[in-house]
Amino acid sequence: MIDRSRQIFFQGKVESRDAAFSLLKKSGDAVIVERGHPRLLIMRCPCGCGDDLLINLDRRAGPAWRLYLQPRGLTLYPSYWRDSACGSHFIVWNSNIFWCSSGIDEEIDESWDVISITTENMVFDSLPENKFVEYTILAESLNLTPWETLQACRQLVRKNKASSNKKYGDKFQKMSFNSPQQLTLRGLAFWIERILGKRKKP
Ligand SMILES: [Zn+2]
Repeated sequence: MIDRSRQIFFQGKVESRDAAFSLLKKSGDAVIVERGHPRLLIMRCPCGCGDDLLINLDRRAGPAWRLYLQPRGLTLYPSYWRDSACGSHFIVWNSNIFWCSSGIDEEIDESWDVISITTENMVFDSLPENKFVEYTILAESLNLTPWETLQACRQLVRKNKASSNKKYGDKFQKMSFNSPQQLTLRGLAFWIERILGKRKKP
């Protein structure tokens, strides 16, 4: 537990598994195995147990993780959950590791990177008003990583500009002006204006 890494240390791309293992020296070291296209992400388990994790990136070889290699770092989607041995469960976002203790609720962590207003507005503009949309779908259409899209949606919920489906919190929609809360505010504004004499009686 004490040796848990909070970071991924990307060591580059190689063509074979054997070449990858020689580059893994400390917890959090990671190498991409790429032949034509990315096949595997091999990572020295960031928990400190010393095992190497083989994370499939090739959809043709079975269930695969999505990998984003960007100037800000390496991002993996969805979270990695090892169901045996050390049981590590973590999210990799911009080469930072966010540890999860159990279910999906813990994945949503207040310490996540704060998303820029530009990104937040971009997500807001593409949110539908009358139906919930999954943040992963939104991410794909906006060419953003799922984690930053989720965080932008969560920021919008905190600002009362969006709402989420309560059960899983994985779908979002723009806060509608027809929602009871908005109606109340508009109603209040109407009466204030009327009392102040700015609005004539209907
Ligand atoms: Zn481990």
